[in-house]
Amino acid sequence: MNQQTGNDTDFDPTLFERVLLIGGQWIPATSGETRDCIDPATGRVLVSVDEASPDDARAAVAAARATFDRGDWPATAVAERCAVLDRVADLLQRDKERLSVIETLDTGKTLAESRIDIDDVTSVFRYYAQLAAVSSDRLVDVGNPAVISRVVHEPIGVCVMIAPWNYPLLQISWKIAPALAAGCTMVLKPSEVTPLSTIAFTHLLEEAGVPDGVVNLLQGSGATIGSALTDNADVDFVSFTGGLATGSAILASAAPHVTKVAVELGGKNPHIVFADAAGEDTFDASVDQVLTGVFLHSGQVCSAGTRLIVEDSVADRFVDEIVRRAEAIRMGPGTDPASETGPLVSTTQRDKMEAFVETAVAEGAVLRTGGRAPSDPALADGSYFLPTVFDHCSREMDIVQLETFGPILTVERFTTEAEALRLGNDTEYGLAAGVRTTDPERGERMVRGLRHGTVWLNDFGYYTAAAEWGGFKKSGNGRELGPAGLHEYQETKHIWNNTAAPRAEWFGTGG
Ligand code: NAD
Repeated sequence: MNQQTGNDTDFDPTLFERVLLIGGQWIPATSGETRDCIDPATGRVLVSVDEASPDDARAAVAAARATFDRGDWPATAVAERCAVLDRVADLLQRDKERLSVIETLDTGKTLAESRIDIDDVTSVFRYYAQLAAVSSDRLVDVGNPAVISRVVHEPIGVCVMIAPWNYPLLQISWKIAPALAAGCTMVLKPSEVTPLSTIAFTHLLEEAGVPDGVVNLLQGSGATIGSALTDNADVDFVSFTGGLATGSAILASAAPHVTKVAVELGGKNPHIVFADAAGEDTFDASVDQVLTGVFLHSGQVCSAGTRLIVEDSVADRFVDEIVRRAEAIRMGPGTDPASETGPLVSTTQRDKMEAFVETAVAEGAVLRTGGRAPSDPALADGSYFLPTVFDHCSREMDIVQLETFGPILTVERFTTEAEALRLGNDTEYGLAAGVRTTDPERGERMVRGLRHGTVWLNDFGYYTAAAEWGGFKKSGNGRELGPAGLHEYQETKHIWNNTAAPRAEWFGTGG
C-alpha cells in the first residue's frame, strides 16, 4: 500500500479485482490479460486490473442494448430516475475522501484538486436531477383544433462513453448523469491510464439503485476494444472526450452506421493580457491567474491557458514575474498537503514534454525556466516535469500551435487590440480563452470576437454544471453540461395526432 495516503483504508485494492461490469455481473476479462495502474508520484504499481477483449466489449454493448430494449429503465418515471441521481450525489459526498485518494493516487493530482473534482461531480448529478424533472416537451399550434401536435424527448438509447485520464471521474460524470436522467443505458470506458475512480464510482451507482444492465463497465485500451464499441450497429450514441486524432478516428469508425458521435477534444487556449490589466492594482491578480491557468494540475487540463498573449509594453515585467512564481511552485506527491502540483500522469507524458522542449528550442523559442524534470532526488521516481516558460514565441512554431497537454507556457506579444484578437483566434482549436482588461467595452468586443466555446473575462478556468461546455472548430462538435448536455442523450420526436381522423383529400377513390 502506498505510504503517502496517510490512511490505508482509503485505498482498498480488493475493489479492483473484478473490474468489468456486464449485465449486472462483476466479471474478469475473457482475455486473461491485466494492466498495471501506476502511482505517477512514485512509479509504484498500485494494482493490476483486467484488460477487456473485443468480445467483452461486444458483450457489454449487447447487455446495454438488451436492457434498453426491454424498456423498463427508459419507461421509469423521470422522478424516480432523478431520485437515483440524487442518491448518487449523496453517496459521492459520503465517500468523498475515499474517492479523492483513489483519484490522486491514480492521476497524480493533489488531494485538494481531487476533492474539488468530487464536489463538481456531485453538483453535476444534482443539476441533472433537477433539470430532467422539468419536462422540455411542448405543444405546437398547427392551426387545426383537431390536431394535437407535440414535440417530445425520448432517450437516445445505448450510449458508449469514452473518457480521458486528466479528470477521469469528472469527465465521465458529465456523460453518465445526463444519460441516466434521460433514460439511456450505457457502456463506460475510462482511460486505461486512470481507470480506478470510475470502477469505485460504478459500485456507488449500483448502491444508489441503478438497475442491472443500465450501466456496464469495461477496462482496456482504445486500440484493443475501441472499434468494437464505436463500429457497432447496436450503439446509438458515442460520447468521446480525448485527443483530436482519436476523436477523428472515432468519427470515421462510427460513420458506416450513421451513429451519432459527440467529440470533446483538445485546446490551445489563449490568455490575453492587456496593459491596463498589468497596472499597479491589477498586476498581481493577472500574473496569478495566468500562472494558475496554465500550471494547475501540471497543465494537464484541456482548457489550460497555455498561450500567454501579452501587450508588448508590459510584457518583460509580466513574464519576469511569471517565471519567478513558476520557479516557486511546490511540486510533490498529490497526497502531501504541502504540494501545490503533482507529477505528470505517466513517464510517457513526461517524454512528450521533453520532445516538445527540444523542438521549441530548435524553433528559436527562448526557454526562460523549466524544460526538464526537477533535480530534487526525492522526486526522482515520479514522472515530474518543471513548470516551463518559453518567451518570444511566434505563431509558426509547433509549441504555439500543438496541444502539449503539460506544464508549458508560450509567450507572444501584441501592440493593438486587433492583433490580440487575431492571435487569440489563430489556432485550429477553439475550446477556451481568457481576456484580462479593465476597459469594459474592449472586454466585450474581445469576448464576442474570440471563437472559443468558453471565454473568461478577468477570470480563468471556471465552469458550472448549468452552463454548456464544448469547443468550436477542432475542439469538438458536442456540448456537455447545461440543457444541451441533456439533449445530447435525447431524440426529439414530433407526434401529430389528428383526433378527427379525416381523409387526405389528395387522390381520388379510384372509382
Ligand atoms: P486519448 O485520445 O489518447 O484517449 C482518450 C480515450 O480514448 C481513452 O479512454 C482511450 O483509451 C480511448 N481511445 C483511444 N483510441 C481509441 C479508439 N481508436 N477508439 C475508441 N477509443 C479510443 O486522450 P487522452 O490522452 O486520454 O486525453 C487527453 C486529451 O483529452 C487532450 O487532448 C485533452 O485536451 C482532451 N480533453 C478534452 C476535454 C474537453 O472537455 N474538451 C476534457 C478533458 C480532456
